Amino acid sequence: MRTLGLLGGMSWESSIEYERQINEAVRGRLGGSHSADLILRSFDFDFIEGFMDSGDWSGLAKVLADQALSLERAGAEAIVVCTNTMHKVADQIEAAVTVPLLHIADATIAAVANVEAGIDKVALLGTRFTMEEPFLRSRFERAGLEVVVPSRDDLEMIHRVIFDELVQGVVSDSSRRLFLDAIDRLLEMGATGVVAGCTEIELLVSPGDLTVPYFPTAQLHATAAAEWALRDW
Ligand code: GLU
Repeated sequence: MRTLGLLGGMSWESSIEYERQINEAVRGRLGGSHSADLILRSFDFDFIEGFMDSGDWSGLAKVLADQALSLERAGAEAIVVCTNTMHKVADQIEAAVTVPLLHIADATIAAVANVEAGIDKVALLGTRFTMEEPFLRSRFERAGLEVVVPSRDDLEMIHRVIFDELVQGVVSDSSRRLFLDAIDRLLEMGATGVVAGCTEIELLVSPGDLTVPYFPTAQLHATAAAEWALRDW
């Protein structure tokens, strides 16, 4: 089995799920007392938020690239960035290491492509950065998927709930209701699948809450990473 290097803590509320799901996937495949071979670098999210608040993405890229290199030097054979938003600097992280970066969008795109009925338009929920900027959307679009994002009010609400509630461990029925209403409006715009493009959203909204296929990026990414670690094993 190959060793995975996780850049986590962004937030730990979701990266702890990565660790659990990768371990479960390995045990499911190998059985017995097998578990995943992981190196986890978990950040203080307040430190990470400081860079985002000041718009210092090049500083953030340097921090994440340096830590990815530390993971490689410690023996990681691939890097898993346990957040959608930090894929904004995926190119800089990738350039700092010689091992592959297992991209969160690729795991998600593969799951969308697997839906038998066919999906060509997805709703993308995430942080403001993920919904407004091209770093994930363009990857979906290059794979032939149309992407719709919430209108301004819904976008602001989703961003606020992520940072003021979900990354702080607050999961509330009232915010779930707001998210489901926002999702209904995206389905009215023609989306036939919903991408939880922030790794904490799947802690709030479950597949059973929706009537269309749901793509929880943390779970899909963790599963894809486990499969990569076990390939040819
Ligand atoms: N975990 C979140 C994501 O998947 C947001 C927190 C962050 O900015 O990393 O985008």
